[in-house]
Amino acid sequence: MSLNGVIGHKNQIPWYIPDDLKYFAKITTGHTVIMGRKTYESIIQKLGHPLKGRLSIVLTKKINYEVGEGCFVVESFEEALKISSGEVFVIGGEQIYELALPYADKIYLTIVEGHFDGDVFFPKINKNDWEEICIGKGKYDNIKYSFMKLKRKKFIDINHSRTPEQTAIMKKIEADGVCPFCMENFKKYHTKPIIKEGVWWMLTENFVPYKGTKLHLLIVYKHHAVKLEEIDPKAGTELVELLSWIEKKYNLDGGSLFMRFGETDLTGSSVNHIHLQIIVGEVGRSKESSPLRIKLGYKKAKD
Ligand SMILES: [Zn+2]
Repeated sequence: MSLNGVIGHKNQIPWYIPDDLKYFAKITTGHTVIMGRKTYESIIQKLGHPLKGRLSIVLTKKINYEVGEGCFVVESFEEALKISSGEVFVIGGEQIYELALPYADKIYLTIVEGHFDGDVFFPKINKNDWEEICIGKGKYDNIKYSFMKLKRKKFIDINHSRTPEQTAIMKKIEADGVCPFCMENFKKYHTKPIIKEGVWWMLTENFVPYKGTKLHLLIVYKHHAVKLEEIDPKAGTELVELLSWIEKKYNLDGGSLFMRFGETDLTGSSVNHIHLQIIVGEVGRSKESSPLRIKLGYKKAKD
């Protein structure tokens, strides 16, 4: 889209950027493309045939609307999703983007750096809901452009809930669409008291302690952060001081400390906000004890 949000004008794309077309073909080929009737017709007008190597689904309320071989016509977006295969791309126009946005977890957005006249716009999105990365920039015919990839921020991962009680709270958090570990929301969902709070970290008890632990503490970074690089190096000293404070305060002869970072599918974490856990098992090693097992990632399922 252009800087003023335009994506189309009189059934055409208002700019010509060969790299953008190549990029579009590269990411969508082999997958499903869902589009509105006007977008479909503009493709036919331009190419003389539907997009090759892709399953085209045309969403329209027009009765008996006819499309080319291998294309499908549906009346609702849900219906389109049902018959899709591979990755599903929604390729316009404006109304179809609007219908699709609540379902989307990624947006490939080419920003064309200019103001263009247009009659079709990309819908407004809430920037707070998306993580933005630039995956390429270029210039053609004096038009600068950048390829952006937006990923929907995922604050929690219900798959990693461990108890029905936790699942119920996580469902509420999901409906609220917020990060439960960010300071402004923390007390809404977390019922245990904050034991100690610094500039960078706060210490509390885990509200669903791991089975078999006599102590399970949670240390949460006070700013929203997912990746390690987002942690301010100044927070390091405070963390080390806090850890030794904990050791002393709880009289710990031993225990474990771990931190998960980044994508929850890789870590087994239920909240996608940097935090550390300190756990101490209820007993030491003996014939009557067995090790605590904690999800810290995944290995291949056994055949
Ligand atoms: Zn957060």
